[in-house]
Amino acid sequence: MSFLIRFARQWIAGEILDDAIIAAKKENKAGIGAIINFLGEHVRDAARAKKNVEENIRILERIEESGARASLSIKLTQIGLETGRDICLSRVEKIAGIAASKNIFVWVDMENSPYTKDTIEIYLEILKKYRNTGIAIQSNLKRSENDITRIAAAGGTIRLVKGAYRENKEIAYTSRKDVAINFSKLMGYLLYKSPFFAIATHDDLLINEAIEANKAHQKRVEFQMLMGVREELKYKLVSNGFTVVDYIPYGKNWLPYSVRRVRERKRNILLIFRSIFDF
Ligand SMILES: Cc1cc2nc3c(=O)[nH]c(=O)nc-3n(C[C@H](O)[C@H](O)[C@H](O)COP(=O)(O)OP(=O)(O)OC[C@H]3O[C@@H](n4cnc5c(N)ncnc54)[C@H](O)[C@@H]3O)c2cc1C
Repeated sequence: MSFLIRFARQWIAGEILDDAIIAAKKENKAGIGAIINFLGEHVRDAARAKKNVEENIRILERIEESGARASLSIKLTQIGLETGRDICLSRVEKIAGIAASKNIFVWVDMENSPYTKDTIEIYLEILKKYRNTGIAIQSNLKRSENDITRIAAAGGTIRLVKGAYRENKEIAYTSRKDVAINFSKLMGYLLYKSPFFAIATHDDLLINEAIEANKAHQKRVEFQMLMGVREELKYKLVSNGFTVVDYIPYGKNWLPYSVRRVRERKRNILLIFRSIFDF
């Protein structure tokens, strides 16, 4: 197990909040913003879900105290979505309200498809009160075109991602090519429909396309990437004057997040095997 922990560390700031704040401030020094995420998902235990809300509030307090240029990203199944939509809504409202009072932006991560509808509904409710909020939308889902139209019409802010979860072909594009084609298409909509949005990918082709397409539109576009992935590209974009933000997760529940990162790149699987045999 310890080789897996060592391997996963490249994508995770550490186990405690201070690790994430230190990582955020390091990125800030290099001109990169931060999004802090407390790892954890699918929490059905009521007491734990409540504690997770408190931890997310602690993140907001530490961002304010430390002066880090950072926002927060939350997963709704970490704070009770599976045990009750209304309680989850009230918790997101609490987090977004505290964030607003501190002038901090809150992103809502998108999880796998059983939670898409509720996540969007909760986000749209929150948006009515708190404009300091945004939501991730996945280009692998066929429904995303409609979702983007709806969210943009309500004045919401979108982080466009390819989608990190395996979905079935009834509802999703499953080949890398189709997911990328839909990403370009959705990016095109955002350029027309949204004054500001985030492109969250490490894919050179899509990043270059976003840069080229935006020349005509001059929208505020932010490039978001994951901690430990394509560091050199982040610095290159910053030195070319683009806004870049690093997604920095921390916490003890690093396994599901790390498995998703391993799956995204075959080379990571080979590296794991190599580290097993080096061990
Ligand atoms: C800031 C941010 C927030 C995200 N939030 C969500 C979310 O809320 N919901 C969701 O479903 N998904 C989210 N994702 C994940 C996203 O959906 C993809 O799974 C992930 O970004 C990999 O896809 P890609 O667009 O980078 O393209 P890919 O085609 O996977 O990768 C393009 C290139 O990037 C490099 N690369 C990609 N991944 C890795 C890696 N793990 N290690 C090393 N190199 C790599 C490789 O060079 C690869 O060729 C988020 C991603 C980012 C960057």
